[in-house]
Amino acid sequence: MNDDTLDILHRDAADPLAGFRDEFLFPRGPDGREVAYFTGNSLGLQPRAARSLVEQELQRWAGLGVEGHFRGEVPWMDYHAALREPLAELAGALPHEVVVMNTLTVNLHLMMVSFYRPTAERPAILIEKHAFPSDRHAVESQVRFHGFDPATALIELEGDGPGGTLTMDGIARALDAHGHRIALVLLPGVQYLTGQRLDLGAIAPLAHRKGCVVGYDLAHAIGNVPVDLHASHADFAVWCSYKYLNGGPGAIAGCFVHERHARTPRPRFAGWWGHEAATRFRMGPDFVPAPGADGWQLSNPPILAMAPLRAALAQFQRAGLARLREKSIAMTAFLAAQVRARVDRVLEIRTPDDPTQRGCQLSLRVRGHRDEGRSLHEWLEREGIVVDWREPDVIRAAPVPLYNRLADCARLVDAVEAWSKTR
Ligand SMILES: *Cc1c(COP(=O)(O)O)cnc(C)c1O
Repeated sequence: MNDDTLDILHRDAADPLAGFRDEFLFPRGPDGREVAYFTGNSLGLQPRAARSLVEQELQRWAGLGVEGHFRGEVPWMDYHAALREPLAELAGALPHEVVVMNTLTVNLHLMMVSFYRPTAERPAILIEKHAFPSDRHAVESQVRFHGFDPATALIELEGDGPGGTLTMDGIARALDAHGHRIALVLLPGVQYLTGQRLDLGAIAPLAHRKGCVVGYDLAHAIGNVPVDLHASHADFAVWCSYKYLNGGPGAIAGCFVHERHARTPRPRFAGWWGHEAATRFRMGPDFVPAPGADGWQLSNPPILAMAPLRAALAQFQRAGLARLREKSIAMTAFLAAQVRARVDRVLEIRTPDDPTQRGCQLSLRVRGHRDEGRSLHEWLEREGIVVDWREPDVIRAAPVPLYNRLADCARLVDAVEAWSKTR
């Protein structure tokens, strides 16, 4: 064992958050060892506590039937409210500004029903050119739904910075040029392809000054970087819970509505669970929306889907996002430094170098022909290193502070180096 390896092991052992790693279940690689898992940006690992919380609800269902709605430590009637505080902390929101419901794309549509109100003078949506396809499909279909033409009513922001990143100047220029026509600005907290983190607190006021509504997609930001939704003044935000939040495959998602819209007269799609809780069970014909984000709920929520998220959010509360972020900044800087020092011939880092402009993910472009990238990705798979591949040539690796450690990062770079020696 050389000095560098020892140093890495010492630093991992000294990490005050090291114990959280044991609270997760790791898949095993081809050699039977636990994998080095770098795809928490795609599906976070399973917290061990998830199973017992799910089993607890199955048990309550078995033993209580319908009474489970009203009895027990967290009756099903109040289950979504038990997730509210921890989620509000992660989102930098007031508790009544957030709600757990549906899935990301569903929530995006529900938010657009209320917050995308195009007119002939102001029909457009501003979105990044390389937005996640689901967001792109959602906005395009909303534009068409309102009778407008995406060719003119969808304004795509081209990445004008290094590695295809977005610059504040570019965003400001687009708003100067088109702001008067833009009804809605929809941008990500962290861009899924480049790993770039945007300055949400700066973008919303800029767009508001042009009279636009602002929505954020935090799929790659929530649980990864601090977001201060309330202070950012965004009108709404949506996110999923299966990436950095470790809520499980297809987990129930989250939604933020700024408190100034808590009692908005804007139209919305309604369901009984969005009805004011105190009078919901009078079962009257008139819809009285619950104030705050709760008022956008449609159905009574899926308890079995919420149980794993409850386990996962409790971990975030114990670890604390500030401490996680501190570790995350150091770990991603370590990975970036290792990549530059040892495999610069193979990989080009596409993610901004400034830690304030990224989360934990590094997007690594494989130099050379596309086949080189596929070959490297397959090599890593065989080595039990789980990263993901984005066409045409990008490997994304996300060292997650809850369960990754420096030794994982070193293992990744060791494997890339070993592969490069076979070429
Ligand atoms: C992961 C992700 C989605 C996925 O949408 P679902 O509705 O959860 O399937 C959408 N948008 C972005 C930006 C994402 O990163």
